[in-house]
Amino acid sequence: MPENRNNTVHASFVSFLESKGMRETYERKAILQTILEMSKSFDYSSLADSLKSRGEQICRATIFNTLSLLIDSGILRRQHFADGQINYELTAQLPSGNQLHLLCTSCGKISDLRNSQIIRELRHMKFGTFLPSYLSLTVYGLCSKCQKKNRTKTLQESIQLNLFK
Ligand SMILES: [Zn+2]
Repeated sequence: MPENRNNTVHASFVSFLESKGMRETYERKAILQTILEMSKSFDYSSLADSLKSRGEQICRATIFNTLSLLIDSGILRRQHFADGQINYELTAQLPSGNQLHLLCTSCGKISDLRNSQIIRELRHMKFGTFLPSYLSLTVYGLCSKCQKKNRTKTLQESIQLNLFK
């Protein structure tokens, strides 16, 4: 993410905190900076690992608290998956992102298809008096790795079934 965009996101978080009568603590700032340097969507443990590798010692409660503040401020979005996995993603990245997310319901892996035709068409659509700020579309399914895993499993099952016939 470009530097000036990071500054904009940072400034909007500070003003959100001020509107709530809260201060931008060292920890909150470190967490937001780490998120801005991470790519695409992330989960709690990858954020905790990044913080640790930067030498930041921030407790779990503070990380979760900051994540919900970032969601309340509209900077982050939370995504829940069928397997209970929770991912976070920057909404600020989405307007220019133009993305179609491909989400594997088996391992939780997310890949992005950029400039797909359907997203292009949606971006040109009118939504009455509603003013859209970003759009995000997710296709749920199985990634190639999990498809292979499933095939092997099905193959093994059918071999076993044949053995027991
Ligand atoms: Zn998968």
